[in-house]
Amino acid sequence: MDIFEKAFNYTIANEVKQAGLYPYFLAMEGNEGTEAIYQGRRIIMCGSNNYLGLTTHPKVRQAAIEAIEKYGTSCTGSRFLNGTLEMHLELEHQLAEFVGMEAALVFSTGMQVNLGTVSSLVAKGEYVILDKDDHASIVDGAMLARGEMKRFRHNDLEDLERVLKLVGKDEKKLVVVDGLFSMEGDIAPLPEMVPLVREYNARIMVDDAHAIGVLGGGRGTAAHFDMIGEIDLQMGTFSKSFASLGGFIAGKKEVVDYIQHNARSMIFSASIPPSNAAAALAALEIMRDEPERVDRLTAIAEKMRKGFTELGFDIGTSETPVIPIIVGEDMKTFIFWRALLDAGVYVNAVISPATPPGRQLLRTSYMATHTDEQLDQVLETFAAVGKQLGVI
Ligand code: PMP
Repeated sequence: MDIFEKAFNYTIANEVKQAGLYPYFLAMEGNEGTEAIYQGRRIIMCGSNNYLGLTTHPKVRQAAIEAIEKYGTSCTGSRFLNGTLEMHLELEHQLAEFVGMEAALVFSTGMQVNLGTVSSLVAKGEYVILDKDDHASIVDGAMLARGEMKRFRHNDLEDLERVLKLVGKDEKKLVVVDGLFSMEGDIAPLPEMVPLVREYNARIMVDDAHAIGVLGGGRGTAAHFDMIGEIDLQMGTFSKSFASLGGFIAGKKEVVDYIQHNARSMIFSASIPPSNAAAALAALEIMRDEPERVDRLTAIAEKMRKGFTELGFDIGTSETPVIPIIVGEDMKTFIFWRALLDAGVYVNAVISPATPPGRQLLRTSYMATHTDEQLDQVLETFAAVGKQLGVI
C-alpha cells in the first residue's frame, strides 16, 4: 500500500548501468563546445544543441559576466511582479524584430513557453491539434489545456486534413508543430500546411527551438520557406543556439499580451537571471552580425549527411544539422553508443518512447565551430564501429 512501491521496484536503469551501457546523465568534467572532457579523456561533442557554438564565445561570456557584476545573480521573482528588468524588455523587442513578429514574450525555459502558451490559449470546447512527433513540452501544454487534444501522423498533410475536417471549420482550433523536429532532423512542410490550416480556419504555432540559429538564416522555419508573417505564433528557446537558458513566444501584440496575463508557467515562476538575458542578447547580436556562422553550419550538415549516407547508414529524412543514425533496437543502440564513446565521440542514444519502436537511433548534431578534422574523425569512427556491430 506504499505509493513509493513503483520506485522501489524500478530497476531497469540500474540494470543498464551495471552492463556499462547507461547513456544518460553522463557527468562531464568540462565542455568547451566541440570537445568535452569525460573521465579524463577528450571527446568530440556531437550531441549538443549548441548549434552556433556560442556558449564559449568571448562576447557572450563577457555579456553574462558584466550582467552579474551590474545586477547580481538573480531576479528572485516572477516577470509579473518584481522580476522584470529593462533588459528583458529589450530582449523581447529585439527578438520580435529578428523573427518578424509584432511582439515577443520571454519565459524562464522553452518548456514553460509551450506549457503556458498552449494551456492559456486552448479553452474548454476548443481544440489543439498536434503532430505525433511534437516535443513533449507541447504535448504537456495540450494536456494542461482545458480544450481537447487531437493528433495527426508525423508531417502527414492528408492526416492533418482528416483531423481538421473531423473537428470542423466552425470550431476554434490551434495547430502546433515543431519547425525542425529534434530527433530526426526533418522539417514541417509549412508551404503546404499553412494554406490547409487557413482553409479550416485554424491558427498555427511553430516550435522553432531547434530552427532558430539554424534555418532561414537563423530566423527559423518560416524564414526558411520565405514565409515570414504567415504563421501565427513562433516559439524559441535560449537553451540551444542562444547559448543561454530561457525561451520566448512571438506573435501578434494582442495575442502575446493575452498570454502574458494568462500563462501560469510564466506568472508563477521566476524570470531568467540577468546573466541569461545578457547572454541571449549577445548571441542574438552575433546571429544578426555574422550570418556566415549559419552558412558554415549548413555546409557541415550537408557534408555529414552525405558522409553517413555514403557509408551506408540510414539517416531517415534529415535535412538539417540534426542527423539521426537509425539503429532500430534498444540494446544495439546502447552498445553502439558505448562503443562510440570509448572511441572518443559523444552522441545521444534515443530509444522508445522518444522514438517509435524500430526507429531507435543515435542522434548526432553539429556546430558551426566543428572543424573538418573533427568531422572526418567522427565519420571514420562511425564507419569502424558501424562495421564492427554489423549496422553497415
Ligand atoms: N521544444 C523543443 C522542440 C525542444 O527540443 C525543447 C528542448 N529540448 C524544448 C521545446 C524546451 O526547451 P528548454 O530546453 O528551453 O526548456
